[in-house]
Amino acid sequence: MGYARSYNHYFQSLRRDKRNQISIHTRQLLLRIELLTNTNEHIPPNGNSKERRKYEQSIYAWMEDSVASICASCSKTFGLFQRKHHCRLDGSVICNQCSEFLSFSTARCFIDTNTSSFSTTNNLAVEQLINLKTITSSTIINDKQNEDYLRICIPCTKYLYNFYRQICFKNIQKDEIFLHYEKIIEAQKEYNHLHPTYLTIINSLLNGDTKYQIIDAQRTYQQLNVSYGKIDSISKYIVKLADKSSNINEYDPTSKNRYTTICHNIRTYSIQILKNFSISTRRVPNEDDIKQVRDEKKRLDHERMKQIIFNIPNINHNSLEISEELEPFIQQYYQVIQFIERAKLAGHDDEVRSLELNLKELAQAMSTVHQN
Ligand SMILES: [Zn+2]
Ligand SMILES: [Zn+2]
Repeated sequence: MGYARSYNHYFQSLRRDKRNQISIHTRQLLLRIELLTNTNEHIPPNGNSKERRKYEQSIYAWMEDSVASICASCSKTFGLFQRKHHCRLDGSVICNQCSEFLSFSTARCFIDTNTSSFSTTNNLAVEQLINLKTITSSTIINDKQNEDYLRICIPCTKYLYNFYRQICFKNIQKDEIFLHYEKIIEAQKEYNHLHPTYLTIINSLLNGDTKYQIIDAQRTYQQLNVSYGKIDSISKYIVKLADKSSNINEYDPTSKNRYTTICHNIRTYSIQILKNFSISTRRVPNEDDIKQVRDEKKRLDHERMKQIIFNIPNINHNSLEISEELEPFIQQYYQVIQFIERAKLAGHDDEVRSLELNLKELAQAMSTVHQN
């Protein structure tokens, strides 16, 4: 165990050293780009002028032509048809095929990325950089008239490319995940905010109340469904992001795993939210459900009234119809009976007596209404 741990530590420190070296080298390249793409009256403009070459070599010394007999990248021997060129960033001698051309505008994006936060303008630079690989010499010649370029070698391009991938991961992709994750949380809040209202409407409908209509429930259900759909589709999109992002940082293979894990965890979390939603949200009841509930409620009310009427003296108990004028009296009568029961339980005898008097008066009044 002890050995395993110490070796682990050793390898970790090796990896860290390697990362530091790459990072230092990348910063040096970026500084040179900064100096080489700067434009002011003291710096000779780009082109093949002697002054410009001199300036470029003052930023980083070029390898002597006489020392290089083969291309540093492809190892082809230089000759009449294989002319020598210099990488402006590390001075190496390369052939034309092994030259990449970094436009000043793309180069400036590298510098800006280094100092300021990510923007969509810089985002374009990523595309440009990837396209750099597919630029043919003919397009370079055409574009060269409009745009200044730095000739750079393939290893330098790789450093820059890797640097940009890191920036992408740090600034775009990570931000993109969290931006989307925030949207999921927002949708979850929307859902939770609306859910109690929906339950109230549903319960009211199923109690046979007439405060809400089915359309109210349907409207709220639709809103809930929008939030539900958002959570589902955004979390699916995040998983797609994980699958798309290949090789986020060449020098840190675990970054890809971490990234993928985050994405999949978000999806798992979202699925859990959606499951809970499904369990706690019953469908909108249909017309038949409501009608059934309301009919049943009406029937029970009617039963209850008949029961009360049966106990009221001086009223014809055989009458099946309860007139509209009588209904409020019956309800009041029922209430007073309940009050009396409560007062009896509480031992408030005075209250019981006074309520019983009320009951008698009510019965009297009802009898009068009933006979008319
Ligand atoms: Zn070459
Ligand atoms: Zn180079």
